[in-house]
Amino acid sequence: LTESDCPFCRIAAGDIPAEVVLTTPDLVAFRDINPQAPTHILIIPREHITTVSKLRPPDAEIMGKLFLAARELARKEGIDEDGFRMVVNAGVDAGQTVFHVHMHLLGGRVMGWPPG
Ligand code: AMP
Ligand code: ZN
Repeated sequence: LTESDCPFCRIAAGDIPAEVVLTTPDLVAFRDINPQAPTHILIIPREHITTVSKLRPPDAEIMGKLFLAARELARKEGIDEDGFRMVVNAGVDAGQTVFHVHMHLLGGRVMGWPPG
C-alpha cells in the first residue's frame, strides 16, 4: 500500500527525487538527505508500514531482507570490514520523524556508544 502523503512512499514510487542506491521488488535504499556519517543510507520496505510497533508476523520476511540489503550495501560502500551500524528509530521518544519503517545504515567513521 502506497500513501501519497508519505515521503518515503513517494521516493519508492519515484515521485520525489532521491539518490537511490538499491532497488528490489520489495525494498528501496537511498542516501539520507542529512547524512550523519560518510555512509548514511536508508533502507525501506516498499510497503507502507508506519513503525516497528505495528509490525505483524508476515512482515518478518521483509524486515529480514532489510538486514540482507544492509549487508550488501555495506560491502558495496567498503565499510563491511571496519564495521557499520544499523539503526531503527521506533516512535517519537526514539527520534523517529518519518513514519514509514526504515533502517539507517551508517559507517565510514567510528561510532559512539550509547547513542544519544
Ligand atoms: P528517523 O529520525 O529515524 O525517522 O529518520 C528519518 C531520516 O530521514 C532522517 O535521517 C532524515 O534526514 C531522512 N530524510 C527525511 N526526508 C528525506 C528525503 N526526502 N530523502 C532522504 N532522506 C530523508
Ligand atoms: Zn510510506
